[in-house]
Amino acid sequence: MQILGHQRILELLPRLQAQTFLFTGPEGVGRRQVARWFTAGLNCQRGFPPCGRCASCRLEPHPDYLEVAPEQETKTGRKARLPQIRLEQIAPREDTEEQSLLDWISTYPRFKTKVAVVDSAHFLGEAAANALLKVLEEPPSFARIILIAPSRELVLPTLVSRSLEVGFTPVPEALLQTLSTDPEVLAFAQGAPGRVRWALQHPAEFDRLVSRTQGVLEALQTSPAQTLEALRLLGEVEEALPYLGRRLGQLFSVEDPAYKAALEALARAQDAHSAYVSEDLVQTWLALKLSSASQ
Ligand SMILES: [Zn+2]
Repeated sequence: MQILGHQRILELLPRLQAQTFLFTGPEGVGRRQVARWFTAGLNCQRGFPPCGRCASCRLEPHPDYLEVAPEQETKTGRKARLPQIRLEQIAPREDTEEQSLLDWISTYPRFKTKVAVVDSAHFLGEAAANALLKVLEEPPSFARIILIAPSRELVLPTLVSRSLEVGFTPVPEALLQTLSTDPEVLAFAQGAPGRVRWALQHPAEFDRLVSRTQGVLEALQTSPAQTLEALRLLGEVEEALPYLGRRLGQLFSVEDPAYKAALEALARAQDAHSAYVSEDLVQTWLALKLSSASQ
């Protein structure tokens, strides 16, 4: 299991006594990978670092590891406007067969320790969060729970206060270069190995993202209407906007106040997106802001 960077966390994690953790940091930086490594070490016959050869280490997926994530699609197959971790995913309900986190974590581990990961804990619905809170208050002695989120501010304070935060910072570019030396890919990755891997595994999608970002930069020099068109083509802001931010440096000098204004507009657009403001509204607002900054 190759983890790039995060050396300090790998040294610290096995020594921490907490049962509930909050892993924060940018998407693709390696939080899930470290959670799986932690599970491997907790269950390895030889302890940390996991040996990779014992009966436990050879199992992939590991039977004592569970990931709960928000559903991106509604029951009718449409993409959900608001991804959410549902109550049934956390607590058992009589009318479904679905195995919940509570069910899973209440039975003994196959080896030594069970680890349940709640991926994107900022998307826990209120009922699901309350159900999870009960587990966090009194987890079984053989269990660890890891909440994953971009930052602690996005997670409900009641969950944060019962967890030990482990902050993941971007991986240095020198390490990322062991995966790829393509400058476009590295600019896109912004310290996240998962984003490098995504770009390498999806070359066509990545090329499209690069050329559409270039399209926004070119449209910015013409008109707000064309900028809006280009932003719509660029699509989902979550993936594309941080990259656009890096590329904006081509249009401005670093000291230019308009550059700062443009970056602020991007940050606010991302916030608005996290707060579920309509995509169309965000894009229109952003087109106007970016256009006025670059005129
Ligand atoms: Zn082992």
